[in-house]
Amino acid sequence: MRDCKEQTERVADLVVNAEPAHNGAAQPASLPAPSAMPQAAAAPFIVCSGLVKIFRVADLEVVALQGLDLEVAQGEMLALVGPSGSGKSTLLSALGGLDQPSAGRLEVAGQNLLKLSASELTTYRRRQVGFVWQQTTRNLLPYLTARENIELLMTLAGMGGRERRARVDELLAAVGMSDYAHQKPPQLSGGQQQRIAIACALANMPAILLGDEPTGEVDWPTAQMILGLLRDLRERYGLTIVLVTHDPRVAAQVDRVVAIRDGRTSSETIHTPNVPAAADTAHSTHSTAQAAQREELVVLDKTGRLQLPGDQRALAGIGRRARVELIDGGILIRPVDDEHSTAITEIDDTTATSLYHSLYAVDPPEEDAKRS
Ligand code: ADP
Ligand code: MG
Repeated sequence: MRDCKEQTERVADLVVNAEPAHNGAAQPASLPAPSAMPQAAAAPFIVCSGLVKIFRVADLEVVALQGLDLEVAQGEMLALVGPSGSGKSTLLSALGGLDQPSAGRLEVAGQNLLKLSASELTTYRRRQVGFVWQQTTRNLLPYLTARENIELLMTLAGMGGRERRARVDELLAAVGMSDYAHQKPPQLSGGQQQRIAIACALANMPAILLGDEPTGEVDWPTAQMILGLLRDLRERYGLTIVLVTHDPRVAAQVDRVVAIRDGRTSSETIHTPNVPAAADTAHSTHSTAQAAQREELVVLDKTGRLQLPGDQRALAGIGRRARVELIDGGILIRPVDDEHSTAITEIDDTTATSLYHSLYAVDPPEEDAKRS
C-alpha cells in the first residue's frame, strides 16, 4: 500500500515534465540546430524583480524571498549557491511555475508568471520547463526501463508512436545512454540514472532546465561529467539552465554563480573580462587557476542596498552601523569605533585566516591569527 502511494507520488513528479509542447498537436520532430543557440539575447530571458515569497504556517510567516532581483540571459548556465534555508529551492520552484511568488515581478520569455492563472501556470510548467532533482528516485520510475521512463512522459503528452520513438532515440544518444536503453534504474549507476533523468527532463523540449542539486548524490568525477553533458545539451538545444548547488566546485563549470543570502541575491561570481571562455572546459586540475580568474562581485539592488555577509562584517568589526567614505577609486565601509561587533570572537582561527585571505589576499596580522 505504501509502495503504491510512493509510486503514485513519483508518477505525479514525473508528470510535471509531461505535456505536449504545442497544444497536443504534432510537434516538430527537428530540434533547434546547435548553431541556433542565441549568442547574445537582447532582453534577459528570465527577470526577477523585487520577488517576495511568504509562506504562512499556522500563525507564523516565513519570508523565503525578500525582494530578490535576478536576470538570466537566454542560453545562460547559472548556479545558485547559498546557505540552507536561504531561498534557493523557493526561487527554483517559482522559476519552474511549481509555486507562485507572493509579490514582485517574475518574467520568463516575456510572460509574467505572477499574472498567470493556476491552469496557465500548469501549461507554462509543462511546456517550458524540465526538472532534474537530486534524488534519482524522484526522477525515474524504478520498474520501467530507461527508454520506457522517457517514453512515458511523451505518451502522457499525447505524442504519436513514431515521433516518440525517434525522439527517445535522439535523447538517449544526446545523453550518451543509447546502450543502456533497456536497463532499469536499479541496474544503472547514480551518474547513469541522472543522465536518463536529464533525458526525461528534456522529453518535452523545454526552454529552461532547472536542477535542484542534480549532482548532489554522485561523486565529483561523475558530477563533472553531468555538468559537461548539461553544457553540451545547452549548446545543442539552446537551453537556459539554472542549477542549485552546495558544491563550490560547480562554480568553475558554469557561466555565473549567484549567491543567495536571506532570500536576496547577494553576490555574483563571473569570469573576469579577459578570460577566454575555453577555460570553462578545463579539467579539475585547472580549478585553482580557474578560481583565480573568477571574481565574486557584490550585488546592489535598484535602491543601492547591498548585503555584506555576517562573517565578513564580523571580521571587519562592523556592527549595526558603519561609516561610508568616498575614497579615490571607490567607497570604504568602516566600523563605527564604539560599535564593534563582538561576533569576531566566535570565528575560529582557520575561518578567520581564510576570510582574511579572501578579503585582503594577504596573511592576517599575528594578533588576529592567534585570536580564537
Ligand atoms: P534553500 O533551498 O536555500 O535551503 P528554501 O527555499 O527551501 O531554502 O527555504 C527558504 C525558507 O523558506 C526556509 O526558511 C524554509 O524553512 C522556508 N520554507 C520553504 N518552503 C516552505 C514551505 N512549503 N512552508 C513553509 N516554509 C517554507
Ligand atoms: Mg533547497
